Amino acid sequence: MRVLLIEDDRMIGAAMQQALRDAAYAVDWVADGETAIRAAETESYELALLDLGLPKADGREVLGRLRAMGRRLPVIIVTARDGIDDRIDGLDLGGDDYLVKPFEIRELLARMRAVLRREGSGSPTLLSNGKLSLDPATREASFLGTSAPLTAREFALLQALLTRPGMVLSRGELERQIYGWNEEVESNAIEYLIHTIRRKLGATAIRNVRGVGWMVDRSS
Ligand code: CA
Repeated sequence: MRVLLIEDDRMIGAAMQQALRDAAYAVDWVADGETAIRAAETESYELALLDLGLPKADGREVLGRLRAMGRRLPVIIVTARDGIDDRIDGLDLGGDDYLVKPFEIRELLARMRAVLRREGSGSPTLLSNGKLSLDPATREASFLGTSAPLTAREFALLQALLTRPGMVLSRGELERQIYGWNEEVESNAIEYLIHTIRRKLGATAIRNVRGVGWMVDRSS
């Protein structure tokens, strides 16, 4: 799940980036409005977190431009502006949710899950194909009666496959779902994650399509 984090405060941005990575999101962090708009034009994201007070183009302008692009991108406004007029304005401009700083990371994560759930693309309360299921709130997976907690990376990989059951995802597509811009990806990282997930859940939890990629079965 790829997230665009738009935040110019270095400390807050770094803390959010780390927390989001720990929660299994691939994060691209930008610190001004113009870069944010360019990123949204060139990459596809499942969700954006938008600060309002930003250099170059402020958050209201960024939101307006994102909405004018026509592409559906859920946006959670994350700001210190806590006035009722600010909140109403932010939601009316097209924000999907509004969170006031300071906040607790776990509330942000719950709001992200809720927005993604409403989008219907990812994060239902339980993601499942009938045999294999994944709980985004606890990061617990189970396959044919065997349950195990997953690491953030394992979770991100299995989530990418389970949101597209029956579809083969290549190494490149999986890397895109798991890693942000500045993260180094080792050449065998995906194979290693597949291996550790299979060790926890069973070898048949993920199918290998030789030379193409990996998939989980469609619900049966
Ligand atoms: Ca700011």
